[in-house]
Amino acid sequence: MTEPEVIAKVRDWVEAAKRVVVLTGAGISTDSGIPDFRGPNGVWTRDPKAEKLSDIRYYTTDPEIRRLAWQSRLAHPAWTAKPNAGHLALVQLERRGNLHALVTQNIDGLHLKAGNARQKVFEVHGNLHQAICLSCGWKGPMQAVLDRVRAGEEDPPCGECDGILKSDTISFGQSLIPEVIDGALQAAQETDLLFAIGTSLQVFPIANAVPIAQRAGARIVIMNAEPTQFDDIADVKLEGLIGEDLPRICGRFDAG
Ligand code: NAD
Repeated sequence: MTEPEVIAKVRDWVEAAKRVVVLTGAGISTDSGIPDFRGPNGVWTRDPKAEKLSDIRYYTTDPEIRRLAWQSRLAHPAWTAKPNAGHLALVQLERRGNLHALVTQNIDGLHLKAGNARQKVFEVHGNLHQAICLSCGWKGPMQAVLDRVRAGEEDPPCGECDGILKSDTISFGQSLIPEVIDGALQAAQETDLLFAIGTSLQVFPIANAVPIAQRAGARIVIMNAEPTQFDDIADVKLEGLIGEDLPRICGRFDAG
């Protein structure tokens, strides 16, 4: 089958599906200027030490890691990033009426910014736009805390209890939010067509969405430039650029 024929087949599957579930990862946001972690230009590929900034054990015990983490948040491309063609294609998909859930590992908030409905989006690893206190649970806008970093505080403490502040995202070693992860995996159980887009599928438990959906009888489409461990259970694997292929799959619904 030629590539256009494969895309046409997947488009037919989307039309026929009753409950489409999409799982996205960092690869859908690279076209918006936000590097992934493990791709060829990934943050960790270029600097393996950067992984420590995403590990709660280092974050809570090492003030130097927190100082670096705040500098990295300050410089994060998410503050100015705009949704790209891949995000917008998923808005088109939702307009068709059969998007059951959009599960994202991304913390950049770009699916919501693109226009997907809040109730469809499961941000299983949290959102960078909010800050949280690890001691008292205070939550507030990230930009207000970043203003304090800009003003010279290297590791701003919680204004309520002096505890350690962090982005309201799930680092390695941190517990997931049960309602969010359970809701996402439940959606995978209920889908008849699951897309895994721009994710290396190495982070668990969310990567289990793919075998859960497959065992429940769903068709599986993986869109990722590199191999993943679930390629062999996918009905279709597309290795082209997401920003080109996804609009070809969802774009015909523009009129909606
Ligand atoms: P990952 O870095 O492990 O994998 C991303 C994959 O996307 C790679 O295999 C890469 O080859 C592929 N890819 C990148 N650009 C692509 C393109 N244009 N077309 C096709 N494929 C492309 O990412 P992950 O699986 O999401 O895991 C990383 C973790 O880090 C996640 O849990 C997430 O929370 C976090 N993260 C989030 C962001 C973000 O919010 N944008 C960015 C980096 C990391």
